[in-house]
This record gives sequence, C-alpha cells and structure tokens, in this order.
Amino acid sequence: MSVPMGPRAREAALRRLAEDEFDVLVVGGGVVGAGVALDAVSRGLSVALVEARDLAAGTSSRSSKLIHGGLRYLEQLDFRLVREALRERGLLVTRLAPHLVRPVPFLFPLRHRVWERGYVGAGVLLYDTLGGARVLPRHRQLSHSRALREAPGLRSDALVGAIKYYDAQVDDARFTMTVARTAVQYGACVTTRTKVTGFLRDELPDGGARVTGAVVRDLEGGAELRVRARQVINATGVWTDEIQRLAGGSPGSGGSVTVQASKGVHLVVPRERIRLDTGLILRTEKSVLFVIPWGPHWIVGTTDTPWDLDKVEPAPTRADIDYILEHVNAVLRTPLTHDDIEGVYAGLRPLLGGSGSSSPTVKLSREHAVIRPEPGLVIVAGGKYTTYRVMAKDAVDVAVAGLGQKVPASVTDRVPVLG
Ligand SMILES: Cc1cc2nc3c(=O)[nH]c(=O)nc-3n(C[C@H](O)[C@H](O)[C@H](O)COP(=O)(O)OP(=O)(O)OC[C@H]3O[C@@H](n4cnc5c(N)ncnc54)[C@H](O)[C@@H]3O)c2cc1C
Repeated sequence: MSVPMGPRAREAALRRLAEDEFDVLVVGGGVVGAGVALDAVSRGLSVALVEARDLAAGTSSRSSKLIHGGLRYLEQLDFRLVREALRERGLLVTRLAPHLVRPVPFLFPLRHRVWERGYVGAGVLLYDTLGGARVLPRHRQLSHSRALREAPGLRSDALVGAIKYYDAQVDDARFTMTVARTAVQYGACVTTRTKVTGFLRDELPDGGARVTGAVVRDLEGGAELRVRARQVINATGVWTDEIQRLAGGSPGSGGSVTVQASKGVHLVVPRERIRLDTGLILRTEKSVLFVIPWGPHWIVGTTDTPWDLDKVEPAPTRADIDYILEHVNAVLRTPLTHDDIEGVYAGLRPLLGGSGSSSPTVKLSREHAVIRPEPGLVIVAGGKYTTYRVMAKDAVDVAVAGLGQKVPASVTDRVPVLG
C-alpha cells in the first residue's frame, strides 16, 4: 500500500504541525523515533514526528544491518540483553517484517582443537536456546574439511573446524522508512528537514515548568513553527546530549543521561573477492569482525572507537580501514587490498554512560534508558537497532504515565510493518 510522503503531503503535514496539539511529539527519525511514532499512534494517540535531515540519515542507515542477539554479549554475561534481542529477532522474522528481515548463516572458524569447540559450542547452543521457538535453523558443528567446503576462500591453516549458526539481516534505512510509513498509515504526521531548535514551556503553580512542545525550524522554507504537544519524546541517538542542553539540562547530572558516540566503520567489497557460502564472524582482540553477504557485495566490519567530532559525517580513517583489512586478511586465502574496496561507511553508536574520549566504548552498555528529566519531556537513548521496538514501547509507556488518561498497552508486537 502506498503512503503519501511527497512534497504535497509535506506541506499538509507542516500545516498540521503548526495548527494541531499532539498527544506525542517525537524528535528524531531514526529507527527508534520511527518505532516510537508507530507505538504511540497504534495505541490511538495523536502523533507527530520531526526529523532534522532524512529518515534514517543518522546511525540507522550505517549499522552492520544485523538483527541479532549479539553472540559476543554472551561472553560479557549480558543474558538479559541477548534474550530480549533474540525475542525481537524472532518477532521480526516471523510476524512483523518477514519481507524485510531475512535469516543469514554465519561461520565461526575455530582455531583451537578441543576447548574452543566446547566453549564456543556451548555459547552458540545457549544462543539458539535463548532464541526460543525454532524460528531459525539450529547451529551445526563443522569439521575442518566441511568448513572449507562452505568457505573455500579461507586459508586451510586459519581454522581447525567451524560452527555454523544463524542470525538475521535487514536493509536498515529501508526498514526505518517502512516503520515511519506504517506510522503515517495509522495517522501520524511525519516530516523530514524539520529540526527542533528549542522547547515550549508552561509555568506550573509550584514554580516549576513543564515542556508543552518544541520550536521546529523548517529547513526547506525557513519558517519557524511552534509545535504543541502534551508529551515530547526525544529519540535523537548520538544527538541526545545536545537536545538535553537545548532543554536546559546538563547531560550526566541527576535526572539526565549521557550518550557517548562510538564510531564503527565498514568496508564494502565485491562478492567475488571472497569465496564463501555464508557470512563470517571472526574474533578480534577487543571484539568481533563480521563479513556479511550484501547483494553483490560483502560488508566487512566493524571498529569501535570513541568519536567527539562532527556527528553528521563521521569520517573513516586510514587506520580504521587498515585495522579491518588486517583482521579479515588473517584468514583469507587471497588477501584483500585497498584496490578491492568499493566503499567505506562510518556510523556512530549511541552508547549510554560514556564520559570523555578516553572511555573504551567496546565495554559501554548496549542497553537502553528511558528518563523523564522534567514534566512533559521523555528521553529514550542507547540500545540497538534490533531492540528498537522495546525501546519505543518503554518510552511511550513513560509518556503515557504523564498524559494522565487511560491509554491501551503497546500493540506493536502484533502490528506488521507495511509491505
Ligand atoms: C557501526 C555500527 C554498527 C551497528 N550494527 C548494529 C547491528 O548490526 N545490529 C543492531 O541491532 N544494532 C547495530 N548498531 C546500533 C544501531 O544502529 C543503533 O542503535 C540505532 O540505529 C540507533 O537508532 P536511533 O534512532 O537511536 O538513532 P539515529 O538513527 O541516529 O536517529 C536519530 C535521528 O535524530 C535526528 N536528530 C538529531 N537532532 C535532531 C533535532 N534537533 N531535531 C530533529 N531531529 C534530530 C538525526 O538526524 C537522526 O536521524 C550499530 C551501530 C553502528 C554505529
């Protein structure tokens, strides 16, 4: 079904922004903001979403594009996060978006004979078990020769065997757009190139204040709109600290969160350059590296380093590229060179709780937080692409408590996205 989001629809949406009072105004059109808009509107609330650039223009188009529990978080004993993410993976693959979220097999090459097969095998078995009902095929242990048959591009001495397991993948930008379109179909007012530059406030009798909407600049026409809303939900990812400052708060102090940006870089190389039938997950000294099938390409990444510079265009460096090449080449029969690289992209993870550029971001939590720094304003931050729906539900639950009226519980676990 087509949902109008063209220029004429934009004009109408801008008129609505200026004239209506909304139950919920969402700031940010990444996957979390789009998810919040869909959650709120499908509960029967009137909803507007304003995005400063384009839908998914931030982190939500620059991820590894995996819908996964994160095998490596098991090693950090973060079972709650893994279980939650795997439950979401199951929902997306079966009920919410089977047309957009597809299973993908991965090979985990083993380098040590006995203990590693037991250790990784137990981890992957737990991963399959936490994944619940059998929505994806179970993992399999592969001998050295069987692994090389599935991955002839790997050096024979780079592995003694392998474990094959399943996760899922998605076109992240397209998915975010589709969630936003689904929200529009339910009646949400969604605009792009509309940036929040300030907040509206009413004085309260006790001398305090409550947020009653936002000042929004139309970056196309230049107009400044005063958008009234009973609750504002901020879902601006790595821009969360800026929004908190706009709202008069100071990130990191009581009643606020701090979001540290962590840069992750991916290389795009032609599919024929690596002979593999599956994706690949490789252990690195700090984290893991993925080789992920992507149409006629492979996506190879990623890195994880703190980033304090321009958030709109995080820049990959030569060192990022060399790091990825070095680690993938350690297992490839025919090493990749700089000439094989068709593209490079970098994104910023919105990680909770960092402070300053010296924090090692690999260890920062992938969990999310929802806070209400002042009446009328809710902030949702952190998390992963995979858990966007849970983040959205949690944020809307907090906003609903501030509305002071009876609102149905979230239904997004039963709302398939368009298409
Ligand atoms: C390299 C990398 C790999 C990753 N891989 C995975 C993965 O494989 N699987 C997984 O589950 N997760 C992954 N993640 C994490 C995941 O991508 C993010 O958690 C998720 O995309 C964040 O979405 P978001 O909506 O919070 O932020 P964003 O997508 O950044 O959205 C925030 C939006 O707010 C807008 N905005 C900012 N300021 C304003 C303003 N003043 N007014 C209006 N709008 C504003 C921005 O333009 C932006 O579009 C990865 C992240 C990175 C960086």
